[in-house]
Amino acid sequence: MTKVNRYHWTSAILSISRWRSAKGSPDLRFPPKSGDSNRTILRLPILISAILSLLLLLLAASGCRPAATPVERHEREYARLADEMPPLSPVPLGEGEKLQVIATTSIVADVVKNIGGDLIDLTTLIPPGSDPHTFEPTPRDAAAVAKAHVVFINGAGLEQFLEPLLESVGGTEKITSVSYGIELRRLDGEHGQADPHVWFDPYNVIVWTHNIEQALGALDPDNASAYTARARAYEAELRELDAWIRDQVAQVPAANRKLLTDHKVLGYFADRYGFEQVGTVIPGLSTLAQPSAQELTALEDIIRRHNVKAIFVGTTVNPRLAQQIADDTGASLVFLYTGSLSEPNGPADSYLSLMRYDVAAIVEALK
Ligand SMILES: [Zn+2]
Repeated sequence: MTKVNRYHWTSAILSISRWRSAKGSPDLRFPPKSGDSNRTILRLPILISAILSLLLLLLAASGCRPAATPVERHEREYARLADEMPPLSPVPLGEGEKLQVIATTSIVADVVKNIGGDLIDLTTLIPPGSDPHTFEPTPRDAAAVAKAHVVFINGAGLEQFLEPLLESVGGTEKITSVSYGIELRRLDGEHGQADPHVWFDPYNVIVWTHNIEQALGALDPDNASAYTARARAYEAELRELDAWIRDQVAQVPAANRKLLTDHKVLGYFADRYGFEQVGTVIPGLSTLAQPSAQELTALEDIIRRHNVKAIFVGTTVNPRLAQQIADDTGASLVFLYTGSLSEPNGPADSYLSLMRYDVAAIVEALK
């Protein structure tokens, strides 16, 4: 089910349950002394809202969308977060006080940690092992955002459920997209939805490194040269990673360089290292959708026609469907770390180890 449908379901269910409680025995909003006619008037907007929600639901089910769906609104209102770096000015810090920094995903947090080190207080919003596409923040997260000096987001539409919260508590001025300046891949041509999975190309993470260095240096100028030194050291590690990946993928014959994943997560990797994304279990760039029966049949056709050897599934995504497809086609099921690091001391507890783990798994499955 797409995000659009989820929104309609949720609001319809909420409206129906409100309508039910209005209809049933008296509650706080409808005290008995209000009199019957009064109660009907009070109930009317709720009834209308329930009917409207049901209509929206029917519209969504029939594939006909109302004027501005949440996804379209999201594209319009939040896509700019990936394209702009807000002007940041120095934060007045007391003696021994550190910059309060938030990063949304564990992957962004790891890169921020490499540049900020002990000079910053860093909080990660989305815990390791959670899917960044579907993560829903708690009131505690909102409080942390309100207190922060800067919030680093992946941007490019990844944090769909988080962005409204970030904007309402934090205000846009403290939100900094680490992906500023990256040329985003687009689904279905120039104006299509942006592909947020930029970290699968280490060169994009070099861009992150520069953005984070710049932002931290602007907020905390006393430590700017330390941030710069750390950023250059980390950048050298990213270049080493790129050289290692090139070495590894050279073992995969050209005919086998076909990636089939749970959702469209490896586009930047495919572009950089000469692979092709031949299909996905879940249609699109997010994990929020569900494939239809026809889409599944078409996918199994692709696997047989292209002689696809493996289906790669993220550790934060339910593998049930992918397992079924693997069983049907004889392809193997291979787990990758995609949207999140592993737990500390796990096999992918940093960005660098995540990339090494995934590349080793891909090469092993396809060579
Ligand atoms: Zn994803």
